[in-house]
Amino acid sequence: MIDLHCHLDLYPDPAAVIARCVERKTYVLSITTVPKAYRHTHRLALGAGRIRTALGLHPQLAATRTSEMGLFEELLPSTSFVGEIGLDGSYEHRSTLSVQRAVFQDIMDLCGRAGGKTISIHSRAAVNEVLQTIAPYASSCRLVLHWFVGTPRQVARAAEMGCWFSVGPAMLTSARGRASVAAMPPSRILPESDGPFGSLDGEALNPWDAWLMVAQLADLWNKQEDEVGRAMFQNFRSLLTFDTAA
Ligand SMILES: [Zn+2]
Repeated sequence: MIDLHCHLDLYPDPAAVIARCVERKTYVLSITTVPKAYRHTHRLALGAGRIRTALGLHPQLAATRTSEMGLFEELLPSTSFVGEIGLDGSYEHRSTLSVQRAVFQDIMDLCGRAGGKTISIHSRAAVNEVLQTIAPYASSCRLVLHWFVGTPRQVARAAEMGCWFSVGPAMLTSARGRASVAAMPPSRILPESDGPFGSLDGEALNPWDAWLMVAQLADLWNKQEDEVGRAMFQNFRSLLTFDTAA
């Protein structure tokens, strides 16, 4: 199983969740929301060979954590994975958009200069601006749009740019989410849980629950579940090899 966007450090008992990921042979991209959380979160998963930790500064926290940009820069050479970063233009966060923009742009510049980073990107209520910001970095980094809800045109623009899409079970329960996924190229889609924020029927999703999206995709594409599952692994292999040190 694969979960390309999960906040392992924010579960009530991260060690227990990680132990179950190991048991279930689940590949996880462990996402952080502030640079100060990176070292600790990375340490949590030491010894879990299928888990990699990403260095992030979440757009919803960017305004109060700009002081951690120095730490972000210091830590960046130690990982190939970046996220969660991006922009959030929703009602609750739009007042901080100018700071969010500065932070996002700085991080993309750092990643562009370093090259070879795989980046998990948040674009809630800011799709066009996110696409415009990341476009210059599409050749130097792998860009993964997380929970991307866009029009077919926006999805096509992202796909042409070479973006990947991480899609979860919660996203596939809404009509807008399904319409967005239906427009995505099947070879660029990967599972995500966004746990513990991502939930289904009021229950926080665990990393292995990201795989529930396989049945939903099979339904959407009118394909067999095992065929979709194999496709997800193939996509995962084309995106990256978790076996290499990172
Ligand atoms: Zn997230």
